[in-house]
Amino acid sequence: MKQEELMRYSRHIMLPEIDIVGQEKLANSSIGIIGLGGLGSPCSIYLAASGIGTMNLFDDDNVELSNLQRQIIFNSSDVGAKKNLIAKKKLLNLNENIICNSFSERITKKNITKLLKDSDFVIDCSDNFETRKIINEYCFKNDKDLISGACIGWKGQIFNFNFSSSNSSCYECLFEEIEEEDLSCRESSIFSPLAGLVGTFLAIEIIKNILEINNSKENFIEIDSLTNEIQKRKIKKNPFCKICKKK
Ligand SMILES: [Zn+2]
Repeated sequence: MKQEELMRYSRHIMLPEIDIVGQEKLANSSIGIIGLGGLGSPCSIYLAASGIGTMNLFDDDNVELSNLQRQIIFNSSDVGAKKNLIAKKKLLNLNENIICNSFSERITKKNITKLLKDSDFVIDCSDNFETRKIINEYCFKNDKDLISGACIGWKGQIFNFNFSSSNSSCYECLFEEIEEEDLSCRESSIFSPLAGLVGTFLAIEIIKNILEINNSKENFIEIDSLTNEIQKRKIKKNPFCKICKKK
């Protein structure tokens, strides 16, 4: 590690759970981030600042005025521009040591294998149920850890599916518990700083997974930002889940 990097990441390196070895692990990791909205913005900023070596960004939207209330990687002057290009520019401006690839693509069943082949870990910051299910199936089948987040109104959710090293439950296991309308964030109300909190939690979870220091037994966190209640629990494997029952 170069002198400049030792200094840049010194506050990480001082943490015994990270140290130089952990920081190098982060530098050697590659993360795919799907969606550069309210969750993808803070998440990608923290991951770039933390020194994740390769970040692959996916979003096919342009910046809209109504995004600026919570999508903090964008400024007023970015309205109308491609989200993936602006985000890449800002992240490289923050940390020129990282590799940042960005794609103006919407993840589909057809293109997901090609688009995520170079990402060892995946963060789902998408805003619709269909995309979430496609990502979940891909990550399960390819043993890639999936961290997924959602935000609606005052409530936020964080899921950690550790497919790389455990017999984890999956997003589809929850299908019976969660109604479809609960999961679409596209046109929903959303409390601005809550998106920051959930996006930051996604970064926390993926970094701990990469470093293999995630000691939490629970893989689901729910935050109510109106009452400040935070609940966590383990999502049980659904024996009838059509994605993960066979493993
Ligand atoms: Zn499942």
